[in-house]
Amino acid sequence: MTAVEPKPAVAQETFDSLNPATDEVVGTYPVHTAEQVGEAVARAREASRWWASLGFDGRAERLRRWTATITRRMTELGEVVQRETGKPAGDAQLEIVLAIEHIAWAARNARKVLGRKRRPAGLLLSNHSATVEYQPLGVVGVIGPWNYPVYTPMGSITYALAAGNTIVFKPSEYTPGVGKWLVDTFAEVVPEYPVVQLVTGFGATGAALVGAGVDKIAFTGSTATGKKIMAAAAETLTPVIIEAGGKDPLIVDADADLDAAADAAVWGAFSNSGQTCIGVERVYVHEQVYDTFLKKVMELTDKVKPGVQYGPMTMPAQLDVVRRHISDALARGGRALTGGKDAVGDRYVAPTVLVDVPEDSEAVREETFGPTMTIAKVRDMEEAIEKANATRYGLASTVFSRQNGPRIAARLRAGMTSINAPFSFAGMASLPFGGIGDSGFGRIHGPEGLREFSRPKAVARQRFTAPIQLTSFSRTEKTEKLVRTLVTALYGRGAKG
Ligand code: NAD
Repeated sequence: MTAVEPKPAVAQETFDSLNPATDEVVGTYPVHTAEQVGEAVARAREASRWWASLGFDGRAERLRRWTATITRRMTELGEVVQRETGKPAGDAQLEIVLAIEHIAWAARNARKVLGRKRRPAGLLLSNHSATVEYQPLGVVGVIGPWNYPVYTPMGSITYALAAGNTIVFKPSEYTPGVGKWLVDTFAEVVPEYPVVQLVTGFGATGAALVGAGVDKIAFTGSTATGKKIMAAAAETLTPVIIEAGGKDPLIVDADADLDAAADAAVWGAFSNSGQTCIGVERVYVHEQVYDTFLKKVMELTDKVKPGVQYGPMTMPAQLDVVRRHISDALARGGRALTGGKDAVGDRYVAPTVLVDVPEDSEAVREETFGPTMTIAKVRDMEEAIEKANATRYGLASTVFSRQNGPRIAARLRAGMTSINAPFSFAGMASLPFGGIGDSGFGRIHGPEGLREFSRPKAVARQRFTAPIQLTSFSRTEKTEKLVRTLVTALYGRGAKG
């Protein structure tokens, strides 16, 4: 069984999905029109009543079936990811494994996080009971990028599903096949209604989804597109989550395990050709260990080969951005210890380590999204923190220090920080994921991710009539005086001393 997809009313325009390593056409998909997107949302709206009615347990059971299907067919999905992104099999598997972890967690925890709970009614209304529960929003539109085409959109899709919403998913035009695979396998385990639907196409299809009357848009992609989406969503007061780009720092303190720090820097900067929103782009190293750290980074970088450890640039236009950032860094006094001017080829970019790059150059300020990193020497951790925070982005960050990790982490202006290992927060389903500033707002993953796709419903219930009636014209002066006395006794004394 395949996913329910909008039926073309007229001859349907299509586009090709290419393998970025070979330019081979690996699939052809419809460019869905605004009308077709609207139809998909209408179907999702109908399906949402059924999906919500299943309750936490019914949904969890179906999400577990989906988890099992994806797990059993992980290799097949990995091949689709590889064909459309060019990433190595191990990297494709890693993002699938992490996504599986998230579906399982969301299914298991939705009731606990979102289910009805009692709250204290307070002294003045102690004749009442109070409860809050988190209800589904209805239909969530998910717009995804291509760099982690499974892990990234699934961070929204699975949490929104567990919270009781139906989904219309618009994957990146570079990875529609991965989107289709996910939607088709969901339809295999939940054949009754179109709970998860696919719409494909370019930016215009995404824009149509934003304007189609969904209850929330969960967008992951570039900051520039995020701004456009938020502006468009304002027209209909549609709430949005924006998971956008980053310029993430890695900080190395004098007491750090330098082998581990160098390994994390090299992997964090170069894996997936640096096309990682939480990838390491800037490194700040304590002057006492700078030379040793640099030597270790160079030894490890020597062994990293494009086409082996990582694939081609998935989006050809990104090659120009990477070239521009490297040229700007070199033109302004930076040095490439490896890679550099000739690093950018037709499809692949060689790993590039830049030092002595001015902090106000593009290579330090803008998201490069390629296999490059800048490394800078700092006097102390104060300077490292200040420089790490001097960015309009604020997605993730990494700290290496045996003693000071938590203290430094607390001061980093970023949604997430991992200490003494790269990216570990991303694999922990219980931790919220998201950024601040130009990296966006809102959270996927964890309890926060479940609540992001639901609305709190507060209910106050009077259990018995109180002797003191405050909200009635029958209220007497005596009651008012009594309340005054009571509140004064409770709160009137102020702070001690
Ligand atoms: P992009 O912004 O070009 O596209 C993302 C999606 O938005 C695509 O599906 C695209 O078709 C759609 N889109 C484009 N214009 C639109 C419009 N006007 N209205 C609605 N939808 C529109 O981003 P990309 O190149 O696919 O992805 C790379 C970016 O994503 C990088 O900046 C990266 O840092 C970021 N990213 C962030 C996270 C995160 O969790 N914060 C995760 C992965 C990637």
